[in-house]
Amino acid sequence: MMQKVTVLGATGSIGLNTLDVIRDNPERFSVFALTANTQVKLLAKLCAEFKPEYAVVLVDSAAIQLQSLLKAQNLKTVVLCGEQALIDVVEDQNVDTVMAAIVGAAGLRPCLAAAKSGKRILLANKESLVMSGQLFLQEVKDNQATLLPVDSEHNAIFQSLPLDYQSNYLQQKVEDFGVSQIVLTGSGGPFRTTPLELLSAKSADEACAHPNWDMGRKISVDSATMMNKGLEFIEACYLFSVTPDFIDVLIHPQSVIHSMVRYIDGSVVAQMGQPDMRTPIAHTLGFPDRIKSSVSAYDFTQGGDFTFNAPCEQRYPNLYLAKQAFNLGQESTTTLNAANEVAVDAFLQGKIAFTDIASLNADVLAAITLAKAHSIDDILAIDNESRSLTQSLISKRY
Ligand code: NAD
Ligand code: MG
Repeated sequence: MMQKVTVLGATGSIGLNTLDVIRDNPERFSVFALTANTQVKLLAKLCAEFKPEYAVVLVDSAAIQLQSLLKAQNLKTVVLCGEQALIDVVEDQNVDTVMAAIVGAAGLRPCLAAAKSGKRILLANKESLVMSGQLFLQEVKDNQATLLPVDSEHNAIFQSLPLDYQSNYLQQKVEDFGVSQIVLTGSGGPFRTTPLELLSAKSADEACAHPNWDMGRKISVDSATMMNKGLEFIEACYLFSVTPDFIDVLIHPQSVIHSMVRYIDGSVVAQMGQPDMRTPIAHTLGFPDRIKSSVSAYDFTQGGDFTFNAPCEQRYPNLYLAKQAFNLGQESTTTLNAANEVAVDAFLQGKIAFTDIASLNADVLAAITLAKAHSIDDILAIDNESRSLTQSLISKRY
């Protein structure tokens, strides 16, 4: 049956890779809506190719510009604007599947809308799970939504777990399927071997030049600091209902093994392939079927050796902050995520040094007093307060 898909964040790295897989499988998918922040020209080009019913942007000026670009090509796509419009094109009853690929906390409300309206959610936007954790998962369960992990590590873990577990995974415990450990792998980013004393001088472009993956700038910086692995650690604890001691983080610089699962009989099951997001995207779009993607087969005779080592706290303090925040609770993971988004943005704008990201994150986490969050509004209030605190520390110090 044809699936109607809304792609949130269609002009980003994950959004474009999603459209590439859809392009390869036209008999299975049609695009209902495409959304973007402000990248109007690219969005207009995508509308011409995929002919969605709706295109959504965030600000009025972008909407006006998009409208005239679409009109010039005689396209019937309706242009909408603002956050409520993002929610509308998620909740629409004609939509089956939502690719959640907005970057950062901005993706939270649309993700929740997808859960509340019982959609099939392909989750790339890890920040929304890091912020809302149990609240988000509860909405998924209460509304019989389907949640499939796009993040390559979580997708690999999911694929390495038994089929019986996969079919109803949010209601089951991995321990009941003979699983003894989840091994979350990460490349270690572009500064894996950089002498520690040289890290503070690293530029935004150097941080974004990831050795294996081609990604958006925010997640690229997160990979360099390993905050990305920290967010993924939290994401894995929530998705697979495990405690932090159940997950081991390993650096695997080649990024061919995307993560692994250990079983009590000594077996280790891994998912491997090229470091190309079109594989996990195709897996989630097609699940439980396998569908084609344009990713080439990994050639074991051409690749080098596989190596592994443990991450060092001095080099990657953000990874350890994320573990600490998870132990403190959902309010702290929201704070850490917010502080990190503001700090990474300041780094990308050249206002702070690479190593300042982790010190700001640590200081905000230590300084803030948090009340228990009972709702998404509480979470968003914590998010706001943490952003203001980080911003004021940046203004004072730099
Ligand atoms: P990106 O920066 O390339 O794209 C982000 C998309 O979100 C763009 O379409 C942009 O227009 C839109 N957007 C940005 N701010 C917005 C706002 N305030 N409101 C609405 N839309 C907004 O990012 P990406 O690398 O594609 O990452 C997207 C998400 O997927 C992130 O949460 C990231 O952590 C996750 N992810 C990415 C990769 C990857 O390989 N790129 C891998 C795993 C997970
Ligand atoms: Mg990942």
